[in-house]
Amino acid sequence: MSENPTIFGKILRGEIPAPRLWDDEHCIAIRDISPAAPHHLLILPKRFITTLDELEATDAPLLGHMVFVATQLAKQLGFAESGYRLVMNCGSLGGQSVFHIHLHLLGGRSMQWPPG
Ligand code: AMP
Repeated sequence: MSENPTIFGKILRGEIPAPRLWDDEHCIAIRDISPAAPHHLLILPKRFITTLDELEATDAPLLGHMVFVATQLAKQLGFAESGYRLVMNCGSLGGQSVFHIHLHLLGGRSMQWPPG
């Protein structure tokens, strides 16, 4: 597998510092540099996957784990009860700007539907 050239690859390798709110064998969680909500975290898998479109069947447990990690962080940070939103953007029309998959965890404000 090629090395992850994205900004998240640099964060995962420690080349760019970013405090980790979660770090296990499968993923890390960091704060979004441009928060769209009072709580805005990103869950990043350690395995390099460019978009959701590239997922393989064997990645299913990893994606489930990322969702589980998000739920634990929402609880730890105290906004689980008030509610939150999980988002994964895919491709340019989906609003993806960093081409290493990541799960957004947004909380601390009322969310609108449909999303922009
Ligand atoms: P997306 O548009 O879904 O690909 O989300 C990428 C997210 O990464 C955006 O919300 C950015 O604000 C965030 N981001 C970009 N660079 C950094 C960084 N160095 N540290 C933390 N978050 C970042």
